[in-house]
Amino acid sequence: MELNILTLCYIIASVTFIIGLKMLSNPAKARTGNLVAAAGMTIAIIGTIFLYEEEGQKLGNYGWIFGGIAIGAIVGTLAAKKVKMTAMPEMVSMFNGMGGACAALISIVEFNHLAFPVIPGSTEIVYPGAAVGHVLIIVLGLIIGSVSFAGSMIAWGKLNGKVKDFSFKGQHLFNILLLLIILALSVYLVGWMPPQAKLIFFIILALALLYGVFFVMPIGGADMPVVISLLNSFTGVAAACGGFLYDNKVMLTGGILVGAAGTLLTILMCKAMNRSLTNVLIGSFGGGGTTAAAAGKKEQGNFKEISVSDSAVLLSYANRVYIVPGYGLAVAQAQHVCHDLEKMLESKGVEVKYAIHPVAGRMPGHMNVLLAEADVPYEKLLEMEQANEEFPSTDVVLVLGANDVVNPAAKTDPASPIYGMPILDVELAKHVIVNKRSMKPGYAGIENELFFQKKTSMLFGDAKKVLQDRVGEIKNL
Ligand code: NDP
Repeated sequence: MELNILTLCYIIASVTFIIGLKMLSNPAKARTGNLVAAAGMTIAIIGTIFLYEEEGQKLGNYGWIFGGIAIGAIVGTLAAKKVKMTAMPEMVSMFNGMGGACAALISIVEFNHLAFPVIPGSTEIVYPGAAVGHVLIIVLGLIIGSVSFAGSMIAWGKLNGKVKDFSFKGQHLFNILLLLIILALSVYLVGWMPPQAKLIFFIILALALLYGVFFVMPIGGADMPVVISLLNSFTGVAAACGGFLYDNKVMLTGGILVGAAGTLLTILMCKAMNRSLTNVLIGSFGGGGTTAAAAGKKEQGNFKEISVSDSAVLLSYANRVYIVPGYGLAVAQAQHVCHDLEKMLESKGVEVKYAIHPVAGRMPGHMNVLLAEADVPYEKLLEMEQANEEFPSTDVVLVLGANDVVNPAAKTDPASPIYGMPILDVELAKHVIVNKRSMKPGYAGIENELFFQKKTSMLFGDAKKVLQDRVGEIKNL
């Protein structure tokens, strides 16, 4: 009877994961989607703790279980509450790494269960009969989980600036060799189950961790979102391995959903940057390396400045204004005052919309989340392709703390590290006003020729302060 209730808990949890995931694709419902999936996960966890039985035995160990849950819940809640929106990708990476570590730990524990319930005193390793599939899943979980853990930790370090890009000549060959050794050892272990199984198992663990480090180390900074999403899908697959091991349907469903969602997001982000996954993984793009430095040194000529009051006049007398938000808007936390500007301009009969680049900011959907926080109506946010069609009939484009996503070098300079990435063609509008604090480059570390074009005017200052001043000016017009 209890087992049936547990099965019911797992079915409810699986359904909530699917519903929650579906809701995440709509910004207005995303928050509820998260809560729905979290409620499902709570049901699955509580059900497992109290209802799961093996050979008539309940789990027990409640002190350890709830102690672990309490520590995890406190650390997770504090981290999520304290994290700045701009540091979100780092946190996602860290949490993802923990998921990978869990999957690897499950494999370690289960391997020990397999290998050492031996005749007491004997050194012989006994695998239960017909366990090849079982050992295979354990080893797969170990490899994928360890790669995901080590890779995510490096990605976390890179995103918060503690780890620098690192590569050496022939690194890609080295990585391939490392992977082949891991695979060969795994085949030997699973297929032959030799007496040194334990040693081989831990060598595989060490090599997989090393592979995770070397896999992410050379990848350029601007490609980190793609890598994190890929590692996220790895963690999903590793968790699904755990589901197979324990014949636990909800773990399997959750893992497969994470794996599939991560894979789809990886593909979508590659498409948004117009690059293949192989190119992302071995291309060293936008990492501030030599190409980025060379591109940054290009002579660009003069730029012209505009005052807050002149920009207020230009915006107030326009018919159509497009706002292009970028990472700087998030840094300045200027989303609310940006919404005020939009409302004020609209009260003067100006049509205002937002042009959203898929990788603007520091995480997928960053700008959508930021503007939703300020209650900007979702229908005002236009995707890149749509905005690009409308720029030629736009009077003023206001670029707020964005840089790389409006850099024409992506189209015109084959030597540029962002060459090939689709961008917002803001230079097609009649006027462009760029608000940032200085002429410093953005994430990819390269200069932006847009700032030196005739129709572009630079307005220097913190986005929030400048927007507040401008709203004040427009009020008085
Ligand atoms: P960028 O990083 O290219 O540029 C942001 C600009 O904002 C900077 O040039 C900076 O200039 C300016 N800025 C910073 N603080 C402020 C402030 N307080 N007020 C006004 N301006 C400010 O951002 P984009 O959004 O254009 O491009 C995103 C980049 O990040 C892309 O290269 C993308 O590939 C990468 N990326 C994207 C991720 C994603 O998933 N979306 C994840 C990780 C990276 P200044 O210092 O002069 O003020």
